[in-house]
Amino acid sequence: MTKQSMFQRIMSYLLGTNKKIFQEVHIDQEVVDEMLQIAQEAYPNEFVALLQGKTREGVLHIEGLIFLPGETSNQGAVMKIFMMPLVDDVAGSVHSHPGYSASPSNADLFFFSKNGLFHLIISQPYDENSIIAYNSFGEQIDFKIV
Ligand SMILES: [Zn+2]
Repeated sequence: MTKQSMFQRIMSYLLGTNKKIFQEVHIDQEVVDEMLQIAQEAYPNEFVALLQGKTREGVLHIEGLIFLPGETSNQGAVMKIFMMPLVDDVAGSVHSHPGYSASPSNADLFFFSKNGLFHLIISQPYDENSIIAYNSFGEQIDFKIV
């Protein structure tokens, strides 16, 4: 083993990259339905939750939502997520936008870069077509509802 590969192994261990890399994202239909319903109920406020999921054989499978204390607010829900609980299968986050844009704000992009690998923004009218997924770089990525 060369020094470089040892270094890379340590880094990938520390960053958790060896267990978290995925090529595809699947989200349970039930989770999608729940997110859409909560987004509608929270309007005109934002709601925010964490996404619970695991990566198996290159597929990140989102299986549940984890709610944070503090409920909804009209002051940028994303800030509250800094109270992120230490749950080891947190894959990322979801939050809603009042309005028809699911583009990440500067605060969203900063948050994405620091927390998790997969993030959803739901805009009005809060249907399946208004869910946009992003990676930690704020780049739009595909997902499949299963
Ligand atoms: Zn946002």
